[in-house]
Amino acid sequence: MSSEFNIGRKNKNNSKDFPSPFARVTDTTCRECHHKIKRKKLVEELQVCPECGFHMPMHPYDRIATLVDEESFTEFSQELTSQNPISISGYEEKLTQARGKAGLNDAVVTGIGSIDGRQTVLGVMSFQFMGGSMGSVVGEKITRAILKGADEGIPVTLITASGGARMQEGIFSLMQMAKTSNAAALLDGLGIPLFIVLTHPTTGGVTASFAMLGDVSIAEPGALIGFAGQRVIEGTLKEKLPDGFQKSEFQLKKGFVDMIVPRVEMRKTLSFLLKTHESESKGWMSR
Ligand SMILES: [Zn+2]
Repeated sequence: MSSEFNIGRKNKNNSKDFPSPFARVTDTTCRECHHKIKRKKLVEELQVCPECGFHMPMHPYDRIATLVDEESFTEFSQELTSQNPISISGYEEKLTQARGKAGLNDAVVTGIGSIDGRQTVLGVMSFQFMGGSMGSVVGEKITRAILKGADEGIPVTLITASGGARMQEGIFSLMQMAKTSNAAALLDGLGIPLFIVLTHPTTGGVTASFAMLGDVSIAEPGALIGFAGQRVIEGTLKEKLPDGFQKSEFQLKKGFVDMIVPRVEMRKTLSFLLKTHESESKGWMSR
């Protein structure tokens, strides 16, 4: 399956800063089925367990490399970093650690790239960076990405992975839900498509805002997608929830997602969506 992808893609502007794809991937034991997987196999399988099909969290740069045309990606707003707006002790140290661990300034990478020659603004979240939590930087970068699409008439594709709001930023974190949702509404008003790809896990404030506002909602197989966790809901309702509750397949049945697409077919699917919505975006451009 790897032959479909050229994993040597580079960042057009800044190839030195764009690490070679999958550089961080090591031999791994699958969290779901405990199968041991060698690095080479894991890269070939795009970090999907060959035994049980579990779609593991992926670094944004690796994900981008599997999606966009070679050397077509230009990152923007890379320099934004979180402050400590409500003076939480230890937050700066946590951020420094997270930056080192994920090799990113915050939990999302944004830029413009093309898929089979058609441009899309991309926002790709990183669960490795403080659980993909949305603070002021994530909210600002997602908003800028959507507004870039609005300004230039380019469809926007957001790939989510998040534990929810960044609690260390308090109300500044929560207000990102309204901010990103407003930007999505503006894009909608202009008739420019917003595609959402929900990956494991997408929860909390991200689910409760822009992640559920796409024109087309795609999910990777087996992804946990919800607001509050199963245990919290069971505790509140005092009843047992069904098997597979909040998994992609459950959310598809309940109408929260439109389709489930395996990672290996994601580029092809996004390419199809960009192609079939092309006249719509161009229609906006010519108005
Ligand atoms: Zn597995």
